[in-house]
Formats: sequence, structure tokens, C-alpha cells
Amino acid sequence: MPAVLRVALPVPLPTLFDYLPPATGEAVAGSRVLVPFGKGKAVGVVVEAGVESAVGNARLKRVLRVLDDAPLLDAELMATLARAADYWLGAPGEAYANALPLALREDRPLPELHEEAWALTAAGRSALDAGSRRGGSRALLEALARGPQTAELLHEMLPGWRDAARRLDEAGLIERTRTQTAGPMAVTTAPSLSDEQQQAVDAIGESLGAFQSFLLDGVTGSGKTEVYLALIEKVIAQGKQALLLVPEIGLAPQTVRRLRDRLGVAVQVLHSNLAEGDRARAWLRARSGEAKVILGTRSAIFTPLPNAGLIVVDEEHDSAYKQQEGFRYHARDLAILRGRALNVPVVLGSATPSLESLANVQAGRYRTLHLRARPGAIRAPQVQIVDMRAQRLDHGLSPALLAAVTDTVARGEQALVFRNRRGYAPVLLCYSCGWHAECPRCEHPMTLHAARRALICHHCDYSTRMPGQCPSCFSPELKPQGQGTERLEEALTAHFPEVPVMRIDRETTRRRDAFEQLLEGLHEDRLAILVGTQMLAKGHDLPNLTLVAIVGVDEGLHSVDFRASERLAQLVVQVAGRAGRAQKPGRVLLQTHHPEHPLLRQLLAQGYAAAAATLLEERRSVQLPPFGHQVLLRADAHQREHVDAFLGEAANALTGTPLQLAGPMPAPMPLRAGRHRGQLLIEAETRGALHSALRPWYPSLSRLPSARRVRWSLDVDPIDLY
Ligand code: ADP
Ligand code: ZN
Ligand code: ZN
Repeated sequence: MPAVLRVALPVPLPTLFDYLPPATGEAVAGSRVLVPFGKGKAVGVVVEAGVESAVGNARLKRVLRVLDDAPLLDAELMATLARAADYWLGAPGEAYANALPLALREDRPLPELHEEAWALTAAGRSALDAGSRRGGSRALLEALARGPQTAELLHEMLPGWRDAARRLDEAGLIERTRTQTAGPMAVTTAPSLSDEQQQAVDAIGESLGAFQSFLLDGVTGSGKTEVYLALIEKVIAQGKQALLLVPEIGLAPQTVRRLRDRLGVAVQVLHSNLAEGDRARAWLRARSGEAKVILGTRSAIFTPLPNAGLIVVDEEHDSAYKQQEGFRYHARDLAILRGRALNVPVVLGSATPSLESLANVQAGRYRTLHLRARPGAIRAPQVQIVDMRAQRLDHGLSPALLAAVTDTVARGEQALVFRNRRGYAPVLLCYSCGWHAECPRCEHPMTLHAARRALICHHCDYSTRMPGQCPSCFSPELKPQGQGTERLEEALTAHFPEVPVMRIDRETTRRRDAFEQLLEGLHEDRLAILVGTQMLAKGHDLPNLTLVAIVGVDEGLHSVDFRASERLAQLVVQVAGRAGRAQKPGRVLLQTHHPEHPLLRQLLAQGYAAAAATLLEERRSVQLPPFGHQVLLRADAHQREHVDAFLGEAANALTGTPLQLAGPMPAPMPLRAGRHRGQLLIEAETRGALHSALRPWYPSLSRLPSARRVRWSLDVDPIDLY
């Protein structure tokens, strides 16, 4: 039987597809091919070449065309992807599709690596020397005097440079170029590192060239980023590449600037908010080895690193690293897999390490490095509990909280009121008959958005106009219950009419760059009150922010989700860490109905490490992750019977295995967007047992007759049970 090609196609099926080799040209593993698929065509990645097919050749179709002469995905990435698909029980084709930027998943030529760039002509240099130009034109000539520059960089250095460029181009003083650009210049110098920082840099630095996982456990503002910078500098000096992951796009711009200003190299950015062409270009520059520093969010973990030197995962505890649809990988765990394959150290940084990582430290798999002090001997902020039970609240705000805000703004400083809930109020209730607004598709309360005069379901986005009277008893007595950021903004604006109140949540930052622009305004020594969701909890340096007031975290104390306490502890510590970053001491208020709650007490008295150790012991004693291992099978359909039938058959197929099953049962949210949801939780004490039983089971699921009537997905190491 002649050899065939085994191809991964971007479909959610647990198989690879065999094709006959193309009529002309040769396809090797890692190359993309165009193949006939169903009624159309698809672009796939060759996983294996020269294998024997299990099916008869007569039934096989032929590859139409080979898109890459040389493999687009190198051997390391191919091997890592195969391991990842096996570990996360993903459809192999979806795993490969994740690794490629969208523009590279299509039958199109690869984009040009080099974007628009400009250079001085000889005449331009003379003009500069002669000093014959003024203003914007002169600034542009000076910027190009060091060498050619990309349009992107010019745009940042000299906003409005285009006009000058047009004039100078017409005068023959500058020209478009394709040559290597000069790149940015290092404009900041490293602070002298503290002893702890230096120790961390030395320990990781010694490990360059070999795989080792490190947990850089450093309180907020302790200078973790400085440690990354020092290490990346070493890596670049060795001619190697560094990959830095951040949990969200909002953090990227300020980090890019910091990297570029310090290192004086171009930073390639990879995240989902980029134009597809730019993303593909950044990916290809990494693949060619030209890109030395790559910064990105979750999916950037798939960047090719032919010359890898270091992988850093900042804020490693952040749940944004887990993909929650399609191929459900965890970028932090994938970083470890890649570090091992590439033989480079992996640094996981956090002020609030995940229990998973702490367990890995205990097991001796990760080495911990601590940063306990804040440089410049800035005191860690003091956290104070505000007992809400004895207070009269004004829109959820206690007198103690309002007094603290008053003091803060009187000093010309900024206060942050944190509430992890957007909208005006989470419930709209009728005081006459007890009716409340509920999403008909989810059977969950709808959130009131007062400015938009709408009720919106935060689970499925269903929305209706805000009713003027109760639809059930026609009483006009409809009252919002509870507070979202919009209501707090209103209350604070009423209390502090002289102070700008800024709300930062998904609603106010929908526009691209809106978040960054809002933050820009806050970096100066301006007076302001911020109201925001957890978008504000992450890593932004706001030097004039001295008060953080946390309201409404009580939900996290009584959740059924076993990870809720861990998340709450992380959130409180991260948000608190926003206070007093620079030269001014910070203060943190935590408003709660449960001041005696053991988690809060330990967190405030002894800190995150102690609270996390307690939580970890609790998990160990009941064999929950990271000590036990879980896989969640989810299914949903328009009819409950279809969900039950599928999950029942799937569970039956596991009889005789040593796995523990919980369910089939309804999901914690049994109805969402009109679909009935159910789940089967599969647990085992060891990963080995779990995977060896599930490996043959997973492909059999799509062959179950009941599978056709449901949507289903498998989640290995799920981070929430919804
Ligand atoms: P983290 O990443 O741990 O939150 P950063 O690296 O952003 O901390 O550092 C917090 C602040 O302290 C930054 O403004 C940074 O410039 C400053 N900083 C960090 N290390 C030093 C140091 N060794 N000396 C002086 N300032 C430092
Ligand atoms: Zn009513
Ligand atoms: Zn809904």
C-alpha cells in the first residue's frame, strides 16, 4: 500500500485525516496543505508523512496543493501540539488551528514580513545637516537619522508624522524602504536590583540553557517585572528569544513600552485584538528568529521559538490563561511543556500563586524565588475590615468608606472603589408582589443597566427594555436590589460632585484602546475616584492611588465552587496591591457582612501565603485538585432528555474503569440561552489513571447515537464548573 499523508483539519473531531500525496510537490510534516473536505476545501497541517493508511486507497482523496515548501510548524511545536492534544483531550485539528494565526489558516500567500518603513535619502541627510527644515519635518528627519524606522514606531514617537512624511517624500528627502529598520533605542536604565531581585536573576540566569520551572513569588510592586527585564536582557545578549505572556490585552501596551524602552529592541506583540495581518507577521518574525522579544496573551504560547531562551508567564494564577472553548488548554501548563521541549527555564510570576503552582513547589517540581520587600521600602498597604452589619449604607457604601474617600480626595489623591459586578443592580424587584426580572432563556435574574434603560442577561446577552411598572401586578414599585459599578458611580458622583468619577468595566472600555486612554489620564498626579471591576485588579501602576475600597466580595465566601475561596483571596490581595505603589502609603478597606470569616481573618492577619497554605491543605484532605484530578464532560441541547441520554451513555461507557463519576447531573446553571445543560464530572487520584481510561473513551463519544442531538465538550482540569 503506498504511503499517505496524515493531516490535521480544523474540525472538532477526535481524528486526523488521511490523504494521498499531491500530484506534484512534496509535503512534509509541519507544512500546510489544501485538501478536498466534504463539499469544499480545507487547509490542514501535515502531521505525518509516509504512513500507511488503515483504509483502502480507493477511498482516499488526494491533496490538492502543498502550501509550504518548508514546514511552517517546526518539529518542536509539532511534538508539543501532539502532546497537548493528547493531554487536554482536544480535537487534534483544533489544537493545530490554535497554533496558527487566522491569516495563516487560509489558502493565501504568507504576508510580507516587513511592513511600511521609511529612511533618509542622501538629500535628506544634507537637509538635516544644513538645518533647513523646521518643526514636524525636522523631527522626522532626526528620527530617521539613526536609520530606517517602521511606520508603526514613527506613529508612536511622532503622532501626526504622516504630513511631514508626505512633504519630505515629495521633496525627495525621505523614501520608503524594505531594509532592516534601526529599531527603537533604549531610553531607560535598569534600577540597581535589590538583593532578592538579584538572587532571583542569578538563580534563573544560571539555569538558562536548561529546563527548570521557577515560581517567582513576589508581592505586588516587589519588582517582578524588573527581574523579567534583567533576564530577558541576558537572553537577548545570547542571541536568543524570550517569550513573555500576560493575562490580558489591557496589560500589553504598558508592558511593551517598558520592554522596548529598557531593552532597545522591537517587541513583537501577539494577541487577539490585533489586525490579523499584524498578528501573522509577528508570528512569522518569531518563526524566522528575527523577533527576539515576544509578548502576548494566552494563544501566544503557540509562538514558534526556533532560538528559545526563556519563557515567562506573568500573573500565572490568572484564569484568563485557560481557554474556555474549543481546545481547552491552559497556557501556563503548556508553557511548562514547551519549556521542557525547548530546554529553557520557565518563570511563573505572581503575588498570589495558584494552588496548582504551590502544590508543584511542595512536590519539588518548581523552585520558588521570593520577593518579599517593595523596593524603596514602601510599606505594604494596611487592610482594614469594615463591618457592614452595624452600618447604615448609602447605595451599598458605608459611612466609614465614604469618610476614607473624603480624606483621600482632600489630599488630592485617587481612590478606587472595587466591585466585581457591572451594571446598575443585579436584580430588579417588585415591592408589591415579589416579581423580579428574569431572563426567559436562562431563568436567572437580569441585570439592570439604568443609563441604557435596559435589563440585560449577563449569561446570554438577552436584553429587554426596563419596564415602567411590574409586568405581573402593574405596581410602579420596582426597586433595584444590590449594586453594580454603574450604581456606585452614580452614588459617588452625587457625594463628590467636585471630583471626577471614572468607571472602568467592560461597558466603559468596549472601544479599542479606551481602557488604555482612561488609564493614561490617571498616571499623572490627578485627583479622581475610580469605580471598577476586576479589570482594575491587574498590574496597572497608578502612583497617585492611595485608597482601595473593596465592596461586595461576600458572594465568594459562600460559593459552591471549591475554587471560589482561592479566587477571592487572590482578588482581594491583587486589588489591595493597587494602593500605594509609589511614594505614598496606601490604605485598603474591605467591606463585608462576615468580618469573622476564617478566610478573611487569616488573609488579613497572616497574608496570602498563609491563607493559600490553609486552602491547599483543605484540598489535600478531600482530594480535590491539584491533588485529585478532574475532567468535566459538558453537554447541552434544546431538550433535557437529549442531554440526559448522551451523558448517561457516556457514563455507561466508563463502567469497569477505576474512575469516580459524579453525575450525570444538571449543570450549576441548568438552563442557558434556552439550552438545557448537564454534566458528568470524572475524577481520579492520578492523572495516569484518568488519561489511560479516557484516551479510548473520548473518540468513542462522537460515535454515540445520542451525541448527534447534543453539543458536548470535554474539559481536562476544568477551572470552573459552569
Ligand atoms: P511587579 O511586577 O512585582 O508588580 P514592578 O517590576 O512593576 O513590580 O515594580 C514596581 C515598581 O517598583 C516599578 O515602578 C519599578 O520601576 C520599581 N522598581 C522595581 N525594582 C526596583 C529597584 N530595584 N529599585 C528601584 N525601583 C524598582
Ligand atoms: Zn409586582
Ligand atoms: Zn439569559
